[in-house]
Order: sequence, then structure tokens, then C-alpha cells
Amino acid sequence: FEFIKKSSPVVGNLIEKEYNRQKNNIELIASENYCSEAVLAACGSCLSWKYAEGYPYVRTSGNTSRYYGGTKFVDELEEYCCDMWRKVFDTDYHVNVQPHSGSQANFAAYKAILQPGDTILSLSLDNGGHLTHGSGVNFSGKLYNMVFYDVDENGFIDMEDVRKKAQEYKPQLILTGASAYSRIIDFAAFAEIAKEAGAYFMVDMAHIAGLVAGGAHPSPFGHADIVTTTTHKTLRGPRGGLIFARQDLAKKVDSAVFPYAQGGPLEHVIAGKAVCAEEALRPEYKEYAAQVVANCKAFADEFLKLGYKIVTGGTDNHVFLLDLLEFPFSGKDLQDKLDEVGITLNKNCVPGEKRSPKETSGVRIGTAPMTTRGYKEEDFREVARKIDAVIKEML
Ligand code: PLP
Repeated sequence: FEFIKKSSPVVGNLIEKEYNRQKNNIELIASENYCSEAVLAACGSCLSWKYAEGYPYVRTSGNTSRYYGGTKFVDELEEYCCDMWRKVFDTDYHVNVQPHSGSQANFAAYKAILQPGDTILSLSLDNGGHLTHGSGVNFSGKLYNMVFYDVDENGFIDMEDVRKKAQEYKPQLILTGASAYSRIIDFAAFAEIAKEAGAYFMVDMAHIAGLVAGGAHPSPFGHADIVTTTTHKTLRGPRGGLIFARQDLAKKVDSAVFPYAQGGPLEHVIAGKAVCAEEALRPEYKEYAAQVVANCKAFADEFLKLGYKIVTGGTDNHVFLLDLLEFPFSGKDLQDKLDEVGITLNKNCVPGEKRSPKETSGVRIGTAPMTTRGYKEEDFREVARKIDAVIKEML
């Protein structure tokens, strides 16, 4: 910070304060994590200066297909990054490591296989889907005809509803993946329905990618035509996105990323993604993924013991939703109150939501960041009891 402060005291001070907040708070935001210093250093490296619009393709065509000179090393780096990610997910799918974020990965993935006005069948935001899965205020809801499958009365994805709606609406794409869904997703069942309906099948595994990499959630590879992800959630890498696709879709995906959606790739972030992939290939990473899930189960179990309702009644992954539908305060009220005592989480809609998305009747709780900081099951049980004490004060 001292180094930054010499150039900009304002920025240096703010980064220092945020660093301390992150270090001292109990971080329960399900989409966040702490990456390694190696990832951070790669992202802050000299690669951030390098322009490299285009793709390396050195191995396939024998030639770089960049629009700039001086790309020898970033060509090698980007191809290495692609190789590492294929290794992480044990797949021979094509991979594009250039998307700047999960949203841009989804934007490009849709563009690669759809025309504006085509129909996408997905999980709505209210039921745990992401903004880019068809929200009316997002490009997805504006460019495509969105239809949604539901969760059942217990909050589980209703596969019968998926089948029924696939037959009724004949979508060009069936999409699954979520920002707030705590159960295993049955990719094989989705793939079968997509096949019957003649639709592409896409998985946005942004939230669970680290669990898939660590063997703690079934893999979508082999089932989906396209898989997108972020690299900064359970995966514990730099902020960014990845797209994997069946080889026959490779060219369409690449041109949808560049030149359609983006300009120059962030080679410094691609370096961070490559370091993250190597970390995900180490045996400790498997242990991390298993611990994230074990911690989450213990955390949810403690809330159940304390008499709370959890959407679906538990969790299989890194996240769960505390249901506050019957409480006199909103998810936002609880989020704000917990902020005051150094516990960070976020408000979230729950199935059957009655409050506005700005208020909500639930909070989303995740275990990936604190597991990185070494928390075990009993630590999370203790945090559940702390949150319970705060809630009791609010009643
Ligand atoms: N997809 C899912 C399932 C997400 O949860 C998120 C982010 O929370 C995204 C995509 C978008 O990622 P980004 O914020 O990097 O655009």
C-alpha cells in the first residue's frame, strides 16, 4: 500500500482499508474467494501492457493470428492456459480463455449458437438463476425469447417441468447453472431432455466450477455442448471467464468473443487464469473442494438445529439460502445488521418471494472464502450461532 500511497494517497488508503476489511470480516459471499499471491502477482504483471487482439493458433495453423507484433510469449502463455484448463476438467473440448467476465462469456456463448429472437429455456433469477440467464433488464432478456423452468415446492429444480416446457416451447437452447442453488444439478437428465427437444444444452457452472474441478460435484463435460464459467468464485482464481465448447463449435465461439464481443484480451488475467488452473490440478485442491462442501453442510445443519428454514432443506455444494419469508425483517435488513458486526453476506430472493429484489426474503450464505482461510466445520457452526444471536436481537 505504501508504494501505491506514494503515487495516490487516496487510492492507497482505500485499498488498505478494503484489505483490512476483507482480512478481519467473516466473508460469506458465495461468489467470492481469496486467490493466491501468485495469481495476484500474475494479474499485476507487465502482461497488462500487451495488446494481442486475435488468437494464438500457433499449433493448429503454425501461425499466430494476432493483429499485433511481439506476441511470441503471450501466444505461448495463452495456449498453455488453454491446455491447463482442459487438464483441470479432463476434457478435449475447445476452450477460449479470453472472456473478461462470466457475463461476457455467456454473451459470447449465446451469440455463437443462437440468433436474436431464438428461445432459451432457463432457471429464472427468482429461483436462483443469474442475471444473464434471461432477466428482462439484461441483454439476455432483451435479445432472446426467454422461458423459464421452475423449482418445486421444496426448492429443487423440477425436471418434469423442464421436460414439459422443452416440449411446449421448443427452445433452441436449454440452459442450466445458477447463482443461488444449493443442490447437485443432474446434467445427464438435462442433456437427455435437450436431445429430445433438438436444443443445444449449455451449462453455466460459474458457481460450482471449483467443486467440479476438485471432484466434489458431477462434471457437465460430455453432457453439455457449451460450458461457461467464471474463474473467481469457488475456482479461486482471478476475475474472469472461460468458455468450453464441443470442437465443432470452436470457430463460432472464438469469433463471438473476438471480434464480436471484445477487443484485446487481458493477457495478465490470462496469466492469472493459468496459475489458477495449475493450483486446481494439485492434490490439495481436491481437499479444499471437499472441505468447502463439508463446511457448508455443517453450517446449514447448525441453522436447521437452531430452528431456521433453509431452501431445499440443506445443501450439496458451497451455498445455501436462509429463508426469511416468515420473518418481520428482510434479507437486506439482516445483511446490513451483519455488516455492522463484521459478517459479510448478501440478500437474495427465495422461491415464493414476496418482497422486492432490493429487499428480498432471504440471505445467501457461502463457505468458499472462509474455507480458503482455514475454517472447518466447527468454525462455521460457531458463525451460525453468532448470526442467530444477531437475528434474535432484531426480533
Ligand atoms: N453466471 C453465474 C451463474 C454467476 O453467478 C455469475 C456471477 O455472479 C455470472 C455468470 C457472471 O459473472 P461476472 O460477474 O463475472 O460477469
